[in-house]
Amino acid sequence: MTGSFPQHIIARKRDGHVLTRGEIASFVRGATDGSWADYQLSAMLMAIFLRGMTAEETAAYTEAMMRSGFVADLSNVAQPRADKHSTGGVGDKVSLHLAPMIAACGVAVPMISGRGLGHTGGTLDKLESIPGFNVNLSFGQYRAQVQQLGLCLIGQTAELAPADKKLYALRDVTGTVESIPLICASILSKKLAEGTQVLVGDVKFGRGAFMKDKARARELAEALVRVSNAMGTPMRAVMTSMDQPLGRAIGHSLEVIESIDCLRGCGPRDTMEVTFVLGEQMLLLAQKATTPRDARVKLEASIASGAALEKFRAMIAAQGGDAAVVDDPARLPQAKFKISVPAPITGLVHDVDPMTTALAVLRLGGGRANADARIDHAVGIDRLLKIGEPVEAGAPLGVIHANDEASGAEARAMVAKAIVVGREPRMEPELIGEVIG
Ligand code: URA
Repeated sequence: MTGSFPQHIIARKRDGHVLTRGEIASFVRGATDGSWADYQLSAMLMAIFLRGMTAEETAAYTEAMMRSGFVADLSNVAQPRADKHSTGGVGDKVSLHLAPMIAACGVAVPMISGRGLGHTGGTLDKLESIPGFNVNLSFGQYRAQVQQLGLCLIGQTAELAPADKKLYALRDVTGTVESIPLICASILSKKLAEGTQVLVGDVKFGRGAFMKDKARARELAEALVRVSNAMGTPMRAVMTSMDQPLGRAIGHSLEVIESIDCLRGCGPRDTMEVTFVLGEQMLLLAQKATTPRDARVKLEASIASGAALEKFRAMIAAQGGDAAVVDDPARLPQAKFKISVPAPITGLVHDVDPMTTALAVLRLGGGRANADARIDHAVGIDRLLKIGEPVEAGAPLGVIHANDEASGAEARAMVAKAIVVGREPRMEPELIGEVIG
């Protein structure tokens, strides 16, 4: 029997049955109106995590999540509208600088982002390291800003995909993140409700990604593209590697600083490569470029002219933040202690384990242990070396930013373990995989 009680629906998924649209709707309604308790929602998430969902269930779940709030009408915006979303990585700050680059190319970016999830950082948390920055705009404010500036980055409101807001926070603390249907519905419910016309996914694979295995990541990319296209939003997904942290900084304000570097034309090479490949697909789908080369020229021009940096500054000001951080990053939260991690020998970097570096940042206070915990925006790691780079014995492999000596010492030991230096040559690992869709 199915019944309408949460426990019956949970048990059906637990036992491996295919849920009906009505049962899926009941679960999503329960997350939205509070009629399912947190423990029931969490049990259901775990049942989905363990049992999976069919393509039809995933599509029905995504649609129910999207309709848990209202679907934005941005037809007031004159420009084409495009957005991108990453499945989550370590040091992945690309949205922060890619969104203003795209806006500077004449394509509006209405972006609903998430908070840190599991070991990965969230765009909203990074933006909140900018003093005063408000990610909680009302829908009316969001719409007006997209119209005026062509750019707005906010979190889910009570109006947009509220079911994901609830379930995302529960997944973060119940070990239910790495699931294709849960990730697919979480990402697309926000993205399809926010009013974008086209969408580009950055689907991460490798040790620091939720999908460690490339074949599983491809499955996720295919699910995202299939469901988004079926729901009327053309989408492509780029597979990118998360076998080492992206860029040289992990941690909220440190990543904002690195994004400002990217907008000034001096960002790390790997971060810029991922940025350009995603940006090319956005401009192509939004029909602002005819070839990848044409798109890249436009993206490079947005940096060289300073237009993208100006868009970033204008967005910070429009959302109540201190735009002076762009010229004076010392206005961002600063940690008390800076602790260098010295190279044990002279050689080449053979490995930088993304998971251990991410866990070191969590240990420093840069992540949440439970859904209500506060995070420390100042802590993290910067000046991280990349696989294949040479280093002299005693020179820094990276620098820890800590607010207390005990967590700083622990993070230092973790980073020293995460970074392996050897004497033999070491090739850079693959960064960009295939484009799906
Ligand atoms: N990003 C999201 O928005 N949701 C997920 O589940 C994973 C990454």
